[in-house]
Amino acid sequence: MQCLYDRLIMTTIEGNLQQLRRRMAAACVQAGRDVHAVTLLAVSKTFGADAVAEALAAGQHAFGENYVQEGVDKILALRVSHPGSAIEWHCIGPLQSNKTRLVAEHFDWVQSVDRLKIAQRLSEQRPAGAAPLQVCLQVNVDGGPTKSGVTPAELPALAVAVTQLPSLKLRGLMCIPEPAPDFEAQRAVFLQAKALFDDLNVRGFGLDTLSMGMSDDLDAAVAAGSTMLRVGRAIFGSRAART
Ligand SMILES: *Cc1c(COP(=O)(O)O)cnc(C)c1O
Repeated sequence: MQCLYDRLIMTTIEGNLQQLRRRMAAACVQAGRDVHAVTLLAVSKTFGADAVAEALAAGQHAFGENYVQEGVDKILALRVSHPGSAIEWHCIGPLQSNKTRLVAEHFDWVQSVDRLKIAQRLSEQRPAGAAPLQVCLQVNVDGGPTKSGVTPAELPALAVAVTQLPSLKLRGLMCIPEPAPDFEAQRAVFLQAKALFDDLNVRGFGLDTLSMGMSDDLDAAVAAGSTMLRVGRAIFGSRAART
């Protein structure tokens, strides 16, 4: 009985993930894209290791963290509570020089690289024998003044320099546009990122990851060619309500 009961009760996170996967599939169909062309990064910032474990149980294996120490705490907690689970951890928050070592030692991906000095430190600090750190360059597509990210003009030179670092593997671009009022306005900004991505690939970079789209604008991001959505609230709920 207990077993049957457990299977009938779906957690909120599991239900949210199912709903989100349907929304992603619908966005792909609408855009005429393969539903497998877009992957999901669950952004677990501010939520505990228990929330990550729930999402993991619901089949989600890639997680994004903004705050380095908080992320490392969760990485270590999940390693103890779920040994052998293949979890992929992405650092997606602003990076300061004094945090690069922790990132290089514990994360699988960094999506927020926007200057060479940070990239060099990450490469130097990646432990010997570890797989290369998978990197996206964060690009400031809409010129938001307070936003981190390399400018489109400086992007090609940074991409060239990063591909020369031995312990990094350049995978693509990440962007966080300012909130836009509607689907078309969102899509227009995402298309600028897609154009930068395509331009680098014309130059031979072989990038496969265009990380863009969050809870409020993921449909427009899929329409513009995103290959990875970074979603927090639509999976884990409102962050403000929890704190
Ligand atoms: C918080 C955050 C997200 C997720 O945003 P939601 O609106 O919660 O989906 C995605 N990317 C970055 C870089 C973030 O900081």
